[in-house]
Amino acid sequence: MTGPTAATRLVALLGNPVAHSRSPIFQNAAFREAGVDGVYVALRCAGQEVPGLLRGIALGGGAGNVTVPHKEEAARAVDRCTEAVALTGACNTYWCRDGIVWGDNTDVAGVSSAVFDLLGERPTGARVLLLGAGGAARASLAAMAAEGAAEVVLLNRTEERARSVAALFAEGGLRVRTASAAGDIRGEAFDLVINATSLGLHPTDPLPLPLDEGPRVGAALDLVYAPGGTRWVGALGEIGVRAADGLEMLVFQGAAAFERWWNVPAPVAVMRKALREALQA
Ligand code: NAP
Repeated sequence: MTGPTAATRLVALLGNPVAHSRSPIFQNAAFREAGVDGVYVALRCAGQEVPGLLRGIALGGGAGNVTVPHKEEAARAVDRCTEAVALTGACNTYWCRDGIVWGDNTDVAGVSSAVFDLLGERPTGARVLLLGAGGAARASLAAMAAEGAAEVVLLNRTEERARSVAALFAEGGLRVRTASAAGDIRGEAFDLVINATSLGLHPTDPLPLPLDEGPRVGAALDLVYAPGGTRWVGALGEIGVRAADGLEMLVFQGAAAFERWWNVPAPVAVMRKALREALQA
């Protein structure tokens, strides 16, 4: 591909802020590898601009992603959505087919794929401890519901928020309850713990779950990512718990979005390599 032409599709990430995003790096690497004619850019915008931008880009032949804080606004802006959007109330991927603007939340598929990558099997029948109650936690709950987890225990700093999120998913048939503190579930055993809080983004953050006073866990997925892995992943590795950070989720949600836009398999290995290099830089 020599450069953009009149046939090139615009694929735009909408969010605020967006300057830190690595999606343009690994999506453009994927476009080059797959030989598809598109260019991926990031547009910082306000919430009230999301419906116009998203629908204009999609109806003009383009597509894109949506990131914080606009995923809920995007879910309201699309004509039709996947079950992942209906379950989470959030949309991170948009495109147009036959004049209809579609939305998906590929964070859900991203969590499922990252869990499979970590465990080597699907978490069907697993007992899962989920830390957090924001957007990433809702995506994780939708993934665990789709995968047939036996039970999810939700632990969040603001328990009230955890209760209302739990109630939404309980209505959908998932067995889910909340805990007030790590001490409340001391001695319990979980096959998997997922960190969907923002703890770990800063080096001085406390660990999302204390290593010594909490429950026993078989494996851990940290949705936060950092060059060389997060501190929590490192600490769990030292005590023999299988753990991975959020890099694979980021790759897999991006791969699922790529496949929505282009209807061809995503070059996952190239996306992972481009992302790793960007994180090291
Ligand atoms: P969000 O909606 O803002 O939710 C943030 C969550 O973190 C809430 O549950 C919040 O608890 C909790 N939290 C924040 N500060 C805390 C603190 N000091 N102590 C304890 N809990 C705290 O954010 P989100 O969209 O769910 O994203 C959460 C994280 O997931 C992001 O930071 C990002 O790193 C990661 N993520 C990764 C991917 C990926 O592809 N790997 C995708 C999406 C998100 P309260 O309810 O009490 O405020």
